[in-house]
Amino acid sequence: MDVSELLDGLNDKQRDAVAAPLENMLILAGAGSGKTRVLVHRIAWLMQVENASPYSIFAVTFTNKAAKEMRTRVEETIKSSVGGMWIGTFHGLSHRILRAHHSEAKLPESFQIIDSDDQLRMIRRLLKALNIDDKKWPAKQVSWYIGAKKDEGLRPKDIKAYDQNEQMLLRIYTAYQEACDRAGLVDFAEILLRCFEVLNNNASLLRHYQDRFPHILVDEFQDTNTVQYAWLKLLAGKTNNVMTVGDDDQSIYGWRGAKIENIRRFLEDFSANTIRLEQNYRSTATILKAANTLIANNSERMGKNLWTEGNKGDPISIYAAFNELDEARFIVGKIKEWKNQGKNLIDTAILYRSNAQSRILEEAMLHEGIQYRIYGGMRFFERQEIKDALSYLRLVNNRQDDAAFERVINTPTRGIGNKSIGLIRECARNESLPLWYAAHSLIEQKQLTGRAANAISSFISLITHIETEIKDSVLAEQAKFAINHSGLMAMYQAEKGEKARSRIENLEELINACSQFELPDEEDFSSPLSGFLSHVALESGEGQADEHDDAVQMMTLHSAKGLEFPLVFMAGVEEGMFPSQQSHDDSERLEEERRLCYVGITRAMEKLFISHAESRRLYGQEKQHAPSRFLREIPDDCIEEVRIKTQVTRPQASNRFSNAVSTAAFEETGFKLGQRVMHKKFGEGIVLNYEGSGSQSRVQINFLDVGSKWLVTSFAKLQAI
Ligand code: ATP
Ligand code: MG
Repeated sequence: MDVSELLDGLNDKQRDAVAAPLENMLILAGAGSGKTRVLVHRIAWLMQVENASPYSIFAVTFTNKAAKEMRTRVEETIKSSVGGMWIGTFHGLSHRILRAHHSEAKLPESFQIIDSDDQLRMIRRLLKALNIDDKKWPAKQVSWYIGAKKDEGLRPKDIKAYDQNEQMLLRIYTAYQEACDRAGLVDFAEILLRCFEVLNNNASLLRHYQDRFPHILVDEFQDTNTVQYAWLKLLAGKTNNVMTVGDDDQSIYGWRGAKIENIRRFLEDFSANTIRLEQNYRSTATILKAANTLIANNSERMGKNLWTEGNKGDPISIYAAFNELDEARFIVGKIKEWKNQGKNLIDTAILYRSNAQSRILEEAMLHEGIQYRIYGGMRFFERQEIKDALSYLRLVNNRQDDAAFERVINTPTRGIGNKSIGLIRECARNESLPLWYAAHSLIEQKQLTGRAANAISSFISLITHIETEIKDSVLAEQAKFAINHSGLMAMYQAEKGEKARSRIENLEELINACSQFELPDEEDFSSPLSGFLSHVALESGEGQADEHDDAVQMMTLHSAKGLEFPLVFMAGVEEGMFPSQQSHDDSERLEEERRLCYVGITRAMEKLFISHAESRRLYGQEKQHAPSRFLREIPDDCIEEVRIKTQVTRPQASNRFSNAVSTAAFEETGFKLGQRVMHKKFGEGIVLNYEGSGSQSRVQINFLDVGSKWLVTSFAKLQAI
């Protein structure tokens, strides 16, 4: 390919960047301005014009998927293979170096990476061995501490503990590290730090890599942390050239140690020149204006202009849903319209703030038979904490469920070790018994004694106790009781950090799922619990749509970074959800939430829907939510409010996505959604929701004075007004 072709399809600024002399450079630009595209063309330029071999190029992307895409795009551009090029995430590339130099890194050849769950289990074992109270120093908090220190590049010897609490954390960090080193285990943060150290401590090795990679390129630079930055600096040395691209307005991983300041530091430390790109090629003028105006509310920005020659396009549609079910129904309806126009599902994305929001949306899509794929995450019913909780319920429901037994016998830890579990398995095999009965029999025959026997006996009584206590409760209460009394909730509450919080949210969301579940009429189940468990088993059995299937893309706002879709939905844009509750009193976190909103809006190419629910049952609680402040920050001329055209399409909660049945049942109550009603005691309100039929029917009213209440229709004596 000749050189001019490399510059085709680029604007002047982009060309300047692609064809820049070999020097350190920062491309600072807003969303959709072609930063990633410039990086791809730059790699091609280096190879075609500067005669760089693919072996001399080191490119860092944010995800493995982005790396794959970038490799393909470079190959398409230069029309040849770039096999020898190093392209991947910081973790992936560091891992590669560690594998190649494990002995310099003082790791066994067979060293293993442990994920965060393995890490927690290890810490728990360690706490026990050291006789440290894991209620005072929960494993999750310890792992968070260790991770944060490693991200800062700090080993135990580099840390001065100022108080007793930190002294203890430090002691555990030290012991943890020794244990990992002995066993040849490496956690995620360790991969980066260890790689940094091995290069830093081995002059010849460092020189080897510095010589090999004169060209270093980094995408999404605004989200690098301290170790990653130090590592880049090391690899770059004095002579190599680093091109970073980034957008300070899209820095959304501050909570995980990313440092926006790295952008400024880079300019100084690397004496880098800045090139700004200002033309956006992704979105309509309306979407861009909304994003620009919103982000202008943040302080301390590096300042950028972003404009487009694109069409004004459609306004952003804002939908005020009655509640989360109505929101899901609305979104799925719009997706169906899109599909009916002959367009592809893969071009649509639903973005949300927290993983727990996906369940309602997933169910709505399953019901309508719309394929979907959860990106960078798991389907609701496949998440660890949900499987834990369901396993308790399964075991209560059916003692022969061996898989459930195995899953929860020692979760949370109750001192039942592998040895005892091994004995139970053996007995089960020999006597062809389910594990539960095998455990019973071992205890009765006194083949298990001492601590192990006690622990297993109390597990058996726990399950029996849960069963007795929940016999007469409604499904949601059953789930709640099991989650609390099994110790699962306490276990996750004792942990710290974003992940633990999301697990707790998910558990609460499971209770919510139970309260919204009603047995399908046409099937026979011995109890609502067994009906629910079958429903869940079927749902999780559907399996994830394939990467290449035509499926709606569902993901958190965080995992949407760098991507683009013609049609985007942002769901749950409410105060308390987005911005999240935790960020309300913290201006830095609030600004990070606003950047996240900017990321969300700028994913949309043609059309953006934003929805918020006036009432949302999430994490087990029904709450009224005001629309997010971010909506007010979008100029009026960019939005249109979607009016509800058909008020009675809102289905019955029990069977909430099948309109036919529920509409009839709802009409029985004589009220419509959104209708104003008067109650003798509570005064005026609006009908938000309803469930059940006949004498069982209940309505949810949002009263002007007293807020939302569920009332039994036949008692409430509501008057339409
Ligand atoms: P983000 O900040 O979201 O990562 P970005 O700055 O990396 O965005 P790209 O993803 O590289 O932006 O580009 C956005 C879209 O604009 C892509 O579809 C890309 O192909 C297109 N694009 C970029 N530059 C041009 C150009 N000069 N002419 C036409 N299309 C372009
Ligand atoms: Mg990009």
